[in-house]
Amino acid sequence: MNVLFVSSEITPFASTGGLADVAGALPAALAREGAKVTRIMPLYRRVAENPKIRRVDTGLTFSVPLGPELRKVRIWHAPRPQPDTYFVAYEEGFDREHIYGLPDRDYADNFQRFLVFLKAVVRFIDHGHRPRPDIVHANDWPTGMLPWLLRHGVDGTGRTGTEATVFTIHNLAYQGLFDAANLGAANLPGGLFSMHSFEYYGKINCMKAGIVGADLVTTVSPTYAEEILTPERGCGLDGVLRGLPRPVLGIVNGVDYRVWSPSRDPDLPARYSARDLAGKAVCKQAVLEEMGFAEADGVPLVAMVSRLVDQKGFDLVARAMPELMKRDLRLMVLGTGQSKYHRLCQSWQRRWPEKFRARLEFDPALAHRMEAGADLFLMPSRFEPCGLNQIYSLRYGTVPVVHATGGLEDTIEDLTRHPESGTGFKFRAYTARKLLDAVDRALGLAADAKALDTVRRRIMRVDYSWKRSAQEYIQAYRSVARTYRVAAGW
Ligand code: ADP
Repeated sequence: MNVLFVSSEITPFASTGGLADVAGALPAALAREGAKVTRIMPLYRRVAENPKIRRVDTGLTFSVPLGPELRKVRIWHAPRPQPDTYFVAYEEGFDREHIYGLPDRDYADNFQRFLVFLKAVVRFIDHGHRPRPDIVHANDWPTGMLPWLLRHGVDGTGRTGTEATVFTIHNLAYQGLFDAANLGAANLPGGLFSMHSFEYYGKINCMKAGIVGADLVTTVSPTYAEEILTPERGCGLDGVLRGLPRPVLGIVNGVDYRVWSPSRDPDLPARYSARDLAGKAVCKQAVLEEMGFAEADGVPLVAMVSRLVDQKGFDLVARAMPELMKRDLRLMVLGTGQSKYHRLCQSWQRRWPEKFRARLEFDPALAHRMEAGADLFLMPSRFEPCGLNQIYSLRYGTVPVVHATGGLEDTIEDLTRHPESGTGFKFRAYTARKLLDAVDRALGLAADAKALDTVRRRIMRVDYSWKRSAQEYIQAYRSVARTYRVAAGW
């Protein structure tokens, strides 16, 4: 099984969130299950200028049409970390500071930028990549047009490929909507643009393009796979998703425990494990100091590491905050995102400086230290396709408090209802009252050192490694690759 994994971000090269973590870990897990996997992503400035990334020029260059013009791209290769990653260099589109644009404003030419990337991918499959892939696995809206380009060719004159396409929705809320005036850049046949393809109320919808165009659609948890079929969570595409010939498959994300294990985490001031938890107290003391909290021995420390966007439940935290700050706890936030939440965090820090601290930056090492140092991890997402931090928290012995939605529902079992097997605290109704109730239940546990210790040791042993998920993906690949062969008359 040859798989080409196409993503706009891949850890450790470039990341804005969970998609990068998946693209960093799943391909390696697929390879361990026997697939031959190759990855491809754009060569952003931050990759090109990073001296730690060893990449070599493949010498491959392609000209791809962008409307009436031609764009030149060059393909680079990084053999480490395995599996192989190829980069599409296209200076005009990717030699920029950000991946998608500023937090509050996307780059205006995102359709064109990623179109050039995807056309380069098609050329790479046809002229550069041996053996040819059986499966092209595309991810989220930046890669949504790929099935159509594979079918119709980069210039719209047609193409005969042998690959099947899988498209994974990591977050349906980001759809890549563009004015129809951009359509010419795609060079696709004129009659193609309709409600049966990637038109959405007169606009181009790249997420819809991936959903309708691919042979199989998957998403990152079984509960989210069901939720997105409803008008409430379908972001306008629930009808399209319900109408697919094959139901959307939910496969929960795994964790890369090479990166997220407190027993060998190079970012921590002390290591620890389920057998010996002593180091966790050291981590707590260190992160309290790092965040600028005064002495707070024995006070529960709550962490949030998150993009600061509506999805992540900060509106709920805002409503709960006055009550929350009456509790005996410390709350620390690490995140970047919408400026209104930056301002909100700054105002909380001014109002409750002893109890609340925020770091408004993207700092992966600090994310690790927070996971290790905290007693509780708060993740009240309004919706959550899968979510990774709650799973990281388990391994770090940090008890998650989550809203019961999407992947949070699938990966955390409530301790109040299931004291013997539970792994965290969940609240169902999206209200400040219910959030506070869950936090209070968690504080109850934290106040009982023996019970907390038992829960910690239990949750640290929970295994969300990629192996099982990778096997599910391989099964999914097989199902479409076979269908494809039958349909192609092989
Ligand atoms: P999403 O993909 O919606 O952002 P996930 O929970 O799936 O949410 O993944 C978020 C990933 O991004 C985690 O690895 C988390 O640690 C990381 N992350 C988010 N914000 C920051 C930040 N400010 N600094 C460092 N890492 C962050």
